[in-house]
Amino acid sequence: MELATIMLMLAVGSFIFALLLLVLKFRNGNPQEVPYWIAAKLFQAAGSFMLYSSVGTFSALTVLGNIALLVGCAYEAWAVRILSGKTVWPWVSRLTIPVIAAVCLGIQRFAQPHGREIVFFVQSIFFFLPSAFLLYQDRDSVLEQILGWSYAVVGTVFLAASLDGGRVLLNVVPFASFFIFLTGGYIMLMLAKERSDLRATEMQAILERTKSQFQLIVETAIEGILAFDKDYVITFANEKIASFLGYTVDELVGRPFDQFVPEAHVELFNEQKSLRKSGQDSVYESCILGKGGVERWFLISAKAMLDESGNFKGSFAMLTDINDRKEMELALQAYNRQLIDLSNRDGLTGIANRRRFDEALEKEYARIRRSGSQLSVILLDIDHFKAYNDYYGHVTGDECLRKFGAMLEESVSRSVDLAARYGGEEFACLLPDTNLQGAVTVAERIQQRIADLKVEHKASPISQYVTASFGVITVRYSPEISTTDIIDMADKLLYKAKEAGRNRIEHAEWNGHQVNPS
Ligand code: GH3
Ligand code: MG
Ligand code: MG
Repeated sequence: MELATIMLMLAVGSFIFALLLLVLKFRNGNPQEVPYWIAAKLFQAAGSFMLYSSVGTFSALTVLGNIALLVGCAYEAWAVRILSGKTVWPWVSRLTIPVIAAVCLGIQRFAQPHGREIVFFVQSIFFFLPSAFLLYQDRDSVLEQILGWSYAVVGTVFLAASLDGGRVLLNVVPFASFFIFLTGGYIMLMLAKERSDLRATEMQAILERTKSQFQLIVETAIEGILAFDKDYVITFANEKIASFLGYTVDELVGRPFDQFVPEAHVELFNEQKSLRKSGQDSVYESCILGKGGVERWFLISAKAMLDESGNFKGSFAMLTDINDRKEMELALQAYNRQLIDLSNRDGLTGIANRRRFDEALEKEYARIRRSGSQLSVILLDIDHFKAYNDYYGHVTGDECLRKFGAMLEESVSRSVDLAARYGGEEFACLLPDTNLQGAVTVAERIQQRIADLKVEHKASPISQYVTASFGVITVRYSPEISTTDIIDMADKLLYKAKEAGRNRIEHAEWNGHQVNPS
């Protein structure tokens, strides 16, 4: 066969082989991918084609062809090195093309008569190198041995051809090239497959190890762990959360999480759901229903799981049992509320006390400063109550005060109104947004109810039943008066009612500058 024909066959063969490798590379999984290999085949194809085109001459194309072919052979050596499990230093890879180009140009410039021999010699080096990589190593692979010896044989042919001056062995060289192209290509493909299988097994082993480590973490975690799909169906639960809730893991997995959310926490759960769906993580406290409807408090740290395109695909939650702490906290809160309530309540009558009344008055007075509306205060004092106590005794006196308290609370109907025991046998009503006329109506209603109570008072010089006197004041906000002044004004009116004979209502309105008696 003609030398040129063999060169052409080599060129076409290498090119097709490069295409095959490219197809494998871009196919899913590309198990056969080995660095340098495709480049090696492309360079070899280009080199062989250029040499085919310039057979018999030693033109610039021959130099280029030699450079490409040698670079191809070098890259193939590096690919084999990687296949044999070693690495190629970056500087070696970077220097490959410049050094080979320099050598070839050097031959052309200074040693042209021996050009072919030197090229054969360099090429033989690039056959001995992969042979060494494959044969000098610990692994006992028959394929690697065959390939290693094949490279050695071809290297020897090229070395002999270079020493021979390219005369006798010249014709053997293309056949040797063709032989190594076929054997090398085939065996390397098998080696690459073997390598990728090995890598897959290794990956599998790593995956198994990671999985068992993960399982260990999940099993030993003192926290409960739950995972949900995008519809909040439980996809994973560890033993811990199952035992917290009194279920088995199997009883939890596959059930919608909604079933474990107590009524009072549904709103919170829905808020959290929409946070997760928008990809946000959060830490919050919530109750979860255990077996038999037992509610248990958890500190929940929840993380959204999104797919590559950012769509919600589920969530993951770590749950810390805070039931004991939370129960204590709630008990303490309830106790505090009770304390506040007690401190605002009068011990004898059970209605608001003076403290609460003063606070409310302060607040309402500040409010009418902004709204510009009116506010009324009724102060009432039981008439001749000392005499009542003296006549009936303190216990009956207390009983009477309790009746007054209950009656007063019923008499102020609006939720913003407030009835309080102001001290001793003195009571006060706060009526926000109420004008004088309205306040007097309320006072009259109270007076009527006192009469209706018909609490006997034999020691009273003014009536056979218990009566009371009233001071009613209505104000608008004015910087000139304080809440103490308002009470003072009501007190003065009350005194006036007492002076005027008791069991009556005295009222007035503060016009911003002075009290207008009415
Ligand atoms: P006036 O008509 O001027 O109001 O005469 P009064 O006797 O009601 O007024 P005074 O201020 O002289 O006496 C108030 C009495 O109210 C003194 C006390 O015996 C009685 N009192 C005050 N607080 C209580 C209480 O908590 N329980 C009982 N049982 N009596 C109380
Ligand atoms: Mg009094
Ligand atoms: Mg009194």
